[in-house]
Amino acid sequence: MTLTRAQKSKLPKANLLNVRWWSTRGIVAKFRLANAMAIHIGRLEVSWRMPWLERSARALHPELFHEDRAMSPCERELVDALKAFLNVAAHCEIKSGVCGCGEDMGSHSDPYSAGHSPTDMADQVVSKAIADAEAAIAKAEGRS
Ligand SMILES: [Zn+2]
Repeated sequence: MTLTRAQKSKLPKANLLNVRWWSTRGIVAKFRLANAMAIHIGRLEVSWRMPWLERSARALHPELFHEDRAMSPCERELVDALKAFLNVAAHCEIKSGVCGCGEDMGSHSDPYSAGHSPTDMADQVVSKAIADAEAAIAKAEGRS
């Protein structure tokens, strides 16, 4: 995938030409920067604008690349379904009625004699499903 004209126009531009004098000990080297090339000769640095490296542009300015990740109708449907599930999970109690130990939640043994507080089996599963759904939505919408 290459950078579109619109993306290129939004990326910050390096100075066309930049000359700098370093006070620290100089080196002799040539660097390709994200959007420039630089040569160091001793304490002198000369850099000039270059086209953005796509990987660097995507890493440094991810906000510019969301729009090129359009969702297919199927992905849109899945995201909407996951959002509906999250809405249900946020407003309804999701319980299995059974403790992790296998006892019925309604008639669970006294925590003191059972050795644990009754915990519905669904609690952990639902928490994980919510986290997975949120992560999948964020990924599909280009936020992660
Ligand atoms: Zn139990």
